[in-house]
Amino acid sequence: MTDLLSLTPDAARDALGDWLAVRALPAYRLKQVLPRLWQRPVRRWPDASDLPADLRGALDEAFALTALQLVTRQVSSDGTEKFLWKLADGEMIESVLIPEGKRRTLCISSQAGCALGCVFCATGQMGFRRNLSAAEIASQVRELILLDPEQKPTNVVFMGMGEPLLNWGAVDTTLTILNHPDGFGIGARHITVSTVGILPHLARFARRAEQFRLAVSLHSPTPAGRLALMPIEKKYKLPDLLQALTAFRRRVTFEYVLIAGKNDTPEDADRLATLAAPLGALVNLLPLHPGGAPGLTPSPRSQMLAFERRLKSKGVEAVLRRSRGLDISAACGQLRVEVETRRKVRPQEHAHVE
Ligand code: SF4
Repeated sequence: MTDLLSLTPDAARDALGDWLAVRALPAYRLKQVLPRLWQRPVRRWPDASDLPADLRGALDEAFALTALQLVTRQVSSDGTEKFLWKLADGEMIESVLIPEGKRRTLCISSQAGCALGCVFCATGQMGFRRNLSAAEIASQVRELILLDPEQKPTNVVFMGMGEPLLNWGAVDTTLTILNHPDGFGIGARHITVSTVGILPHLARFARRAEQFRLAVSLHSPTPAGRLALMPIEKKYKLPDLLQALTAFRRRVTFEYVLIAGKNDTPEDADRLATLAAPLGALVNLLPLHPGGAPGLTPSPRSQMLAFERRLKSKGVEAVLRRSRGLDISAACGQLRVEVETRRKVRPQEHAHVE
């Protein structure tokens, strides 16, 4: 069965066009059916009440629509919302919606779990489960629109569970679905891929013509410091990553989680400035989410402010972000870890649950 939601809108248009032609159905039906995938989505074909009943039935038999089952929805006192979704095979993933003025940024997952084991990350602690399909990634946006069309995200960031560039095929297609006018129609500048720097796929991402944004998880300005926090440094080394970024035609953001005693000294700020300045990179300083990483604590607020000031004094644009959703475990992977702990379900045990 063709999974239309895992195709680009152009490929879905072709598949639907062929399907209509084989059934000798009028071509104008395509204009009614295609928007029901992403623009005005329906959860099930029988819900597309603007289509004749026999066409709805035939679509239902021919094309299953991927659905995410909402397990938990938590709203923080600061308005941040966290969604825990169950996939068809029982795996669970998370999305976080962060409202800020008119902007609604949805942080989406690209993998169930993650193999990379960054020490400050709850998802890293659960290990890798599997890659998500393009339908499962893009459906995190689709499900929100199904819940409330008014709540369509204005911005999307690949910063949830998983390393998006280790699932490049599906992420590549999802980028098109998010941006295409027949998909969700979200501007490329409002879509950000956040990566630790998987170099071969970074080059592929860089070759895309659209102005998608790139965020790089740096977290330390030295190879040794980075290695202590992020095992991926063994494979893709900081100097090679920085070299690759010089070839990137667009502005880069460095993500930098401030961890007490690990990466938050004035010397760290100076070294970070020497990396960011030549690239014109924006530095996003993020307070470590408390409780997400055993044995690590956030830097004191005064130290975070001093770190930000020091970067700025070197001419680097830096922004100290507020920690969002502190009362709902909104750092990536935390909710799934929490739900599993509560239910005393080991990750292996829900792999085959329907
Ligand atoms: S921070 Fe990102 S890359 Fe690192 S373990 Fe967590 S999900 Fe994976």
